[in-house]
Amino acid sequence: MTPREVLALCREKDVKAVDLRFTDLLGTWHHFTVPVSKLDEDIFEEGLGFDGSSLRGWQAIHESDMLAIPQPETAFLDPFAALPTLALICSIQDPITGELYSRDPRHIAIKAENYLRSTGIADTVYLGPEAEFFVFDDARFDQNGHEAFYHVDSSEGAWNRGRAESPNLGYKLRSKEGYFPCPPSDQLMDLRNEMMQTMIDCGLDVEAQHHEVASGGQCEIDLKFQPLVQMADWMMKYKYIVRNVAHRRGRVATFMPKPLFGDNGSGMHTHFSFWREDQPLFAGGGYAGLSEMGLYAVGGVLRHAPAILALTNPTTNSYKRLVPGYEAPVNLAYSQRNRSAACRIPMYSQSPKSKRVEFRCPDPTCNPYLAFAAIIMAAIDGIQLKLHPGQPIDKDIYELTPADLAAVAKAPASLEDSLKALEQDHEFLLRDDVFTPDVISTWIEYKRKHEVDAMRLRPHPYEFCLYFDA
Ligand code: GLN
Ligand code: MG
Ligand code: MG
Ligand code: MG
Repeated sequence: MTPREVLALCREKDVKAVDLRFTDLLGTWHHFTVPVSKLDEDIFEEGLGFDGSSLRGWQAIHESDMLAIPQPETAFLDPFAALPTLALICSIQDPITGELYSRDPRHIAIKAENYLRSTGIADTVYLGPEAEFFVFDDARFDQNGHEAFYHVDSSEGAWNRGRAESPNLGYKLRSKEGYFPCPPSDQLMDLRNEMMQTMIDCGLDVEAQHHEVASGGQCEIDLKFQPLVQMADWMMKYKYIVRNVAHRRGRVATFMPKPLFGDNGSGMHTHFSFWREDQPLFAGGGYAGLSEMGLYAVGGVLRHAPAILALTNPTTNSYKRLVPGYEAPVNLAYSQRNRSAACRIPMYSQSPKSKRVEFRCPDPTCNPYLAFAAIIMAAIDGIQLKLHPGQPIDKDIYELTPADLAAVAKAPASLEDSLKALEQDHEFLLRDDVFTPDVISTWIEYKRKHEVDAMRLRPHPYEFCLYFDA
């Protein structure tokens, strides 16, 4: 869509308000709104001013004036606004220097795509994230997280505690049996259909929606693969739609990776492949139908995984998901079928066009712009340095003997560990200023101070269970 087409759409749909959106460093979507009369073709060049100092990880107070430049190709009609509203995703510019803002995650994602092109390796990267989330109803899960939390002593998972006392579950899902019985066991079909249709109305291409394994209302909606920036934009819309449809129906959706002890967590497995002139570059005659380039991409992702997890798994809660027994990866290995490996090469189709790498570590608390950029920067590094990923592991990694297991590299066990890894290993992210040293250090500092230390310094509610009467 061009600026002129956006303006025509506003007239056609009788739009009254224009909502300007952008993503802060941590991945939260922000917005401010102007009357439609303020939107003209110049705004798409000149932007609209706002105060960047109150946003997490952004400008200091003395240099806070920033410009939001709407990107016409991102326009969509907001399905939740009462007043007819057109939403536009913006680029962020420094009004003094005229430069695009180096801490704008979307700008980082654009630079990563440009860098890929400049290397000559590929002209396009396609990404397909599978974001999972939970839907809780307010009665079972209040805003303080109590219902889920106070059942932490139940090894059967939070929802089953009461039910374990009764042999007849009715149609309530048993722990880890949410994948995927028909209604009435699946109580969220209508809600997911509403989410799916809203996504389609907003221009997203939906592949499928289903209940996920966890019994406490876990869902997944899959989108058709897209180029990097486009897919990151879609993920912002995806989360917005999931949250707001749930809210409209009196429910609460959460992308928190591990809200329930004892049941599966929510991942955001991310499939990716490189293409040149419409030809898939990861398909070939090697292991699992991979090309040499595909194999080296795996090598790069596995080599840098501890560091990129600081961006793809960026919360303290992320590491409560990455434990054995819940279909989440723990070991930094690759395999064609094995879902316990960090990188899987899906074998659904023999078509070269569908040959891709599935990186299973990411979770949906990541900022998709930064996470996708980091993944492809690691893959590019692997390809450039011809980093062979070693032998695949086709056994169930959870079942390996202790000696074999000890030889497999492990994912970091905590956010603290992945931040340390990122501190030591980020050269591959700095190529062509895709990530700047300032972004890396701001990220590490913010996460340490506001999340790692904030958690470490607080008595944990479960410590009361363990120690109150110690
Ligand atoms: N929820 C699992 C995870 O944490 C994935 C389950 C699946 O999609 N097979 O990654
Ligand atoms: Mg899936
Ligand atoms: Mg899934
Ligand atoms: Mg998957």
